[in-house]
Amino acid sequence: MLRETIRALAESKIAPFAAAVDEESRFPQEALDALVSSDLAAVHVPEEYGGAGADALATVIVIEEVARVCASSSLIPAVNKLGSLPVILSGSEELKAKYLGPLAKGDAMFSYALSEPDAGSDAAGMKTKAVRDGDFWVLNGVKRWITNAGVSEYYTVMAVTDPTKRSKGISAFVVEKSDEGVSFGAPEKKLGIKGSPTREVYLDNVRIPADRMIGEEGTGFATAMKTLDHTRITIAAQALGIAQGALDYAKGYVQERKQFGKPIGDFQGIQFMLADMAMKIEAARQLTYAAAAKSERGDADLTFQGAAAKCFASDVAMEVTTDAVQLLGGYGYTRDYPVERMMRDAKITQIYEGTNQVQRIVMARNLP
Ligand SMILES: Cc1cc2nc3c(=O)[nH]c(=O)nc-3n(C[C@H](O)[C@H](O)[C@H](O)COP(=O)(O)OP(=O)(O)OC[C@H]3O[C@@H](n4cnc5c(N)ncnc54)[C@H](O)[C@@H]3O)c2cc1C
Repeated sequence: MLRETIRALAESKIAPFAAAVDEESRFPQEALDALVSSDLAAVHVPEEYGGAGADALATVIVIEEVARVCASSSLIPAVNKLGSLPVILSGSEELKAKYLGPLAKGDAMFSYALSEPDAGSDAAGMKTKAVRDGDFWVLNGVKRWITNAGVSEYYTVMAVTDPTKRSKGISAFVVEKSDEGVSFGAPEKKLGIKGSPTREVYLDNVRIPADRMIGEEGTGFATAMKTLDHTRITIAAQALGIAQGALDYAKGYVQERKQFGKPIGDFQGIQFMLADMAMKIEAARQLTYAAAAKSERGDADLTFQGAAAKCFASDVAMEVTTDAVQLLGGYGYTRDYPVERMMRDAKITQIYEGTNQVQRIVMARNLP
């Protein structure tokens, strides 16, 4: 039922704008409005904080179905989960009560600010600092590549509170867009997911109350990594949706396009490509859904499974979307058809929330 609901909404309210959002590199406001009006923009927020209380698998299905028609729009539910999960996992009751309600209602979005210009794969090498001043913390630094920066009201920001301790000297904070000293860089000019704004976040003497710290001092990096164990599965879902969208389009196209007097879909060479694409997608789906169940239960092997799902599904998305372009021939290479956008959008799923090399490091360290 959930899939039917979100698919109908995605096809009627999000898909019609996907090409324009990409072409104009603009925020998919229509998608946000549609998702908010159906309580699907931050579907993971627990019921006790005013949310829909979707479990990890239901959240995956929402993201997958939105990504099937518009990857940029799928970052609305995905990043709302990424940004707020540190608060859900480690925050005080006060923080949860204050920030999750507006998120669930659609009055605010939540971003996640870990990466910096010189700290990507090695996120613990961050330089952003937070210094205690009485009942306040004062934050200074630059966060880079922050999805939905400028649009989101709330930001989970990781900052160094004890430079002598590396990852154990990092703490997490909730920063608000309206806090004095918060500003944003120009939107990055990207290959894909052009509708999702990616900007730097500048923290210039941002003075916030001490109770905005998420969890204990020094636990911020652990919270950030624990968050990624759960949210890499949402990136797997995004990859899966992009791949399914490309397959669905190509499947229809090969029945219409005629060469040598018959639909190209009658050629076995084409049928074998479609069979391989569908097989890989189904394998990615099973891995992703199984990982979502593990996320919900908090299984001990979640770290391996989340990394495996993200890595496998994103590699599948890149292969399947590239093959979809191939199946459309010269037409696939133009912006008159959606598959080249899907191929450009798929690429990011191999890079963010840890590159696929980093996922392989994570898997190797956590072999089952
Ligand atoms: C569009 C977009 C949106 C993003 N959104 C967010 C966000 O919302 N919040 C956030 O905090 N971050 C975000 N990121 C940042 C993203 O997570 C990082 O870009 C990513 O982790 C890689 O870091 P880097 O770009 O610095 O690459 P680098 O770490 O410099 O890596 C460069 C290359 O070296 C490889 N490499 C690095 N170390 C190793 C190693 N030990 N072994 C093998 N290979 C290695 C990498 O895999 C990669 O191929 C986003 C990035 C993009 C592009």
